[in-house]
Amino acid sequence: MEALELVVPITERKRAKEKLQESEARYRRIVETANEGIMMMDSQFRYAFVNQKLANMLGYQPDEMLGRPVTTFIFEEDLPDHLANMEKRTSGAGAQYERRHRRKDGSCCWTIVSATVLKDDAGRFAGSFAMLTDITKRKQAEDALKESELRFRTMVEMAPDAIFITDQTGAFIEVNEAACKQLRYTREKLLSRRVFDILPASLAAKASLRLKTMVNADSSYESCHMRSDGTQVPVELNIRKIMLNGNPAMLGIARDITERKQTEIVLREAKEAAEAATRAKSEFLANMSHEIRTPLNGIIGMIGLLMDMDLNAEQLGYAEIAHISSETLLSLINDILDLSKIEARKLELEILDFNLLTTLKDTTDLLAIDAHEKGLELVCLVEPKVPSFLRGDPGRLRQILVNLGGNAVKFTEKGEIMISVCLESENRNEAKLCFSVSDTGIGIPAKRQDILFSPFSQVDGSTTRKYGGTGLGLAISKHLAELMGGKIGLESKEGKGSTFWFTAVFEKQPAGSRSADETSAKIGDEGAIERSAAKPSISEDDMLKICILLVEDNPINQKVAQAMLKKMGFRADVVANGKEAVNALKMIPYDLVLMDCQMPLMDGFEATRCIRLQGSKALNPRIPIIAMTALAMQGDREMCIQAGMSDFIAKPVQQRELAEMLGKWLAINDR
Ligand code: ADP
Repeated sequence: MEALELVVPITERKRAKEKLQESEARYRRIVETANEGIMMMDSQFRYAFVNQKLANMLGYQPDEMLGRPVTTFIFEEDLPDHLANMEKRTSGAGAQYERRHRRKDGSCCWTIVSATVLKDDAGRFAGSFAMLTDITKRKQAEDALKESELRFRTMVEMAPDAIFITDQTGAFIEVNEAACKQLRYTREKLLSRRVFDILPASLAAKASLRLKTMVNADSSYESCHMRSDGTQVPVELNIRKIMLNGNPAMLGIARDITERKQTEIVLREAKEAAEAATRAKSEFLANMSHEIRTPLNGIIGMIGLLMDMDLNAEQLGYAEIAHISSETLLSLINDILDLSKIEARKLELEILDFNLLTTLKDTTDLLAIDAHEKGLELVCLVEPKVPSFLRGDPGRLRQILVNLGGNAVKFTEKGEIMISVCLESENRNEAKLCFSVSDTGIGIPAKRQDILFSPFSQVDGSTTRKYGGTGLGLAISKHLAELMGGKIGLESKEGKGSTFWFTAVFEKQPAGSRSADETSAKIGDEGAIERSAAKPSISEDDMLKICILLVEDNPINQKVAQAMLKKMGFRADVVANGKEAVNALKMIPYDLVLMDCQMPLMDGFEATRCIRLQGSKALNPRIPIIAMTALAMQGDREMCIQAGMSDFIAKPVQQRELAEMLGKWLAINDR
């Protein structure tokens, strides 16, 4: 062998050595530039070689790692597993596995290790060679995904609503705990069912179609689910189409609404009961008001007759108090009747052509009486552009104005009351007007202002309060303003005065059909209304003796007509329907009847027929009966004459026409 060695030329050996060196350098370069971590471990489990990449992965320089035991770079909790793995590897097998390494900064670097065991010539364990791939990012993403999955799964499991996913055949793929509870299945059993098993037969076909076509897949609706025991549970169902492994699937969330349904039933029953109670109360109030009014009319009529007698001053004083008290009682009953009609939604507005100026004039005439007694100024201003020929319910408009104006007078000791009207907006057919009533009275504290429009509310609720009243006027006015398409409100300063305002929408009369009296009210300078009093052509003496029965159901029309008659010098008693009129005419020798046509219980036509009937118990069956009828209803006139009425005047009644009519019939009437 040695002789052989001698014959190998020096140059060849040198070349072989150089080749080896070259090859080693090449491999070293590959190892150094490789994109994987590469290392060699000696038989003592220490790093014998570390490439730059691996050092970078763990945050070291290769020198810092060389010679150190590999366990230095392993997390303590992973050591048992690591050592067991080493043990396995010393016995020979190469392997590929995932392993965490501790970086220099203590953070974690996840790697896939591909290791090959090295043996010496004697076949003993001499260390290992390994390539390490950094999979930290992938691991982190996987962890984040796992965490997020866990989070959502926990949420789904904790949700009180049943949540489930089915595939397109309706088979349950996922169900949460609440779904099992709601449907009374174990999770395994439910997962072996299809959605049709939890639906009543009537709904199953629809669900099957929806799943097949996925039409209307995203929707919410009330449905019903069937439990394992056959009982049903009402649910609010939300469904969405989702994708599951590339195929369409259905996600459903079903909320058990048993309690809500029961509450709805209880509430509906309670509401119906409350409505029935309110209706019963309103009907009772309406009936009572009618019943109370009948004897009250008798009382008022009799007091009137009594006052016509030759009474001494003291007796007259008593009779006057009785008269005022019974009138107050009557107006209170009228208010209660109105409120009960409003609550029973039975109050309807009339639709009449009317002249706004006339209505305002009637109202101010009515209020002027009390205002004058208290020494208060009463002014009415109408903005010139306010249209006057309107269509609506003048009686109810007057009622609001009289309520507000009456309060203004009641709560003001000195100063003035101003009623003003302005145009808020208009179009060809309609005008929205704003009415306001201002006073210089006691005012209303800010914190009490809100409650005033509720029934029976007053600023001073004490039993010893100074001002009378029931607290109904504003509640009624609010409803009326709303019925007229408007609103009501107030501005007030305690001690300074109040302004109550309301808006209302009226139709405008078409230009060619103006039927309201254009002459009875005029606007003077600055829009103030001038008042004129028409009187019938009968002697003053005769007038004092004449007694008129006014039959009218609308309380405010009653007041207005009464005020007109009073101004003409007549005394009038008021009843609110035909039945009351027939009764009154049996007791009291009236001279003339002013009869409204439409009234509750008995209308004007029937009442007239009763009075005229042969054998009628009326004291004077031939008494003149003047119908007060709405011009809008042309057929009314014929019906009036047919029913036996003597004549008719158009509503809303105008002072001048009324005076002429009374002059005509009272002069004819043979007294
Ligand atoms: P009534 O006047 O019959 O009590 P209303 O509903 O008309 O009923 O009014 C309710 C309350 O509102 C009155 O009692 C009063 O306290 C207050 N009020 C109404 N108008 C005025 C006003 N112009 N000035 C001061 N207080 C008023």
